[in-house]
Amino acid sequence: MSTVPVMPNIPVMVPWLGEEEAEAAAEAVRSGWVAQGPRVAEFERAFAAHLGVPHAVAVSSCTTALHLALIGAGVGPGDEVLVPSLSFIATASAATYLGATPVFADVDPASGNLTAETVQPLLTDRTKAVIAVDQGGVPVDLDAIEALARPRGIAVVEDAACAAGATLRGRPAGAGAGIAAYSFHPRKLLTTGEGGMVTCQDGELAARLRRLREHGMSVSAADRHAGGGAAVLETYDEIGFNYRMTDIQAAIGLVQLRKLPELVRRRRELADRYRRLLGPLGERLVADPEHGTGNYQSCWLLLPDGAPDRAEVLERLAAAGISARRGIMAAHLEAPYKGAERVPLPATELLTRRSLILPLHHSLTEEQQDRVVAALRSAVE
Ligand SMILES: *Cc1c(COP(=O)(O)O)cnc(C)c1O
Repeated sequence: MSTVPVMPNIPVMVPWLGEEEAEAAAEAVRSGWVAQGPRVAEFERAFAAHLGVPHAVAVSSCTTALHLALIGAGVGPGDEVLVPSLSFIATASAATYLGATPVFADVDPASGNLTAETVQPLLTDRTKAVIAVDQGGVPVDLDAIEALARPRGIAVVEDAACAAGATLRGRPAGAGAGIAAYSFHPRKLLTTGEGGMVTCQDGELAARLRRLREHGMSVSAADRHAGGGAAVLETYDEIGFNYRMTDIQAAIGLVQLRKLPELVRRRRELADRYRRLLGPLGERLVADPEHGTGNYQSCWLLLPDGAPDRAEVLERLAAAGISARRGIMAAHLEAPYKGAERVPLPATELLTRRSLILPLHHSLTEEQQDRVVAALRSAVE
């Protein structure tokens, strides 16, 4: 038997869930109304109010939110949708679902996000939409991309999957977008287990998205029940989906939304502490862009040139009981999109190969953070 004390493992990410969420979920169960109902409607109102946008439509994930957002943008077969390759694969998949072609643009190596300079050369007569991602919770400069797209009649969808709690020019990230899509997966800051939200400015679009998430029904099941049943007959005017959120998820989401400011505050505090403690390495940690503030959903660091391979660094960290992760993936290096890029993507390939994500979550202690810093410094030497 080993006598060496085993240091508890430091996970890369842990959702901040507690008794309040457990009680809210239990209350939804006790009420007997577990499918989409009054709590989903309340979560939508609260989320829209938090952003200061007129409409929020709750769905089952950000992947389904992006699918609906692109339908709303009129994307169909033969169209091109410009996306960053440096993103979770769902960003590109949403275009593929509709028979459109994702066209991969490079990113700014400092933020991991699209810029007007990387987008502009790839716009064609077939470009129907651009998906601008707030990668890892760093706000993309949406205004710069809108300025290119709007005069050409191209829709801009903000993939704000990671962005709850981030800001762009003083407003919540996504608030200024024509359509934005959010994720509530446990890997993000605010979680409902699985879940997503589409927000938009246009009332008719919101009404259509509400129908599409529920089989194209003209009257939602919840409204039919609330109205006493038999009197209201629904019609099905186009093919839709079952992309609904449950009332159990929404009950959890309402609690999480109240905690969001504290979640962001603590993460930013811990990220600043990493930056200070890491010395010169800290300058390679993702930082706020000049146009906004991030939420540090993914606190990534670009390895210096002289450092070992990332796989080696990750192994050394794992040996010290620290779960770091590879940086953001690049869709054009995965089987479905291999070789599909039309232009070289040097910043994307650098970031996906040489960045890693450090443990950062609400309950990370300073003692744990000190261990990460010490292990990282020695792993990189
Ligand atoms: C997580 C993520 C998604 C997918 O979100 P789900 O809710 O898991 O479907 C999409 N885009 C980006 C950028 C993400 O980080």
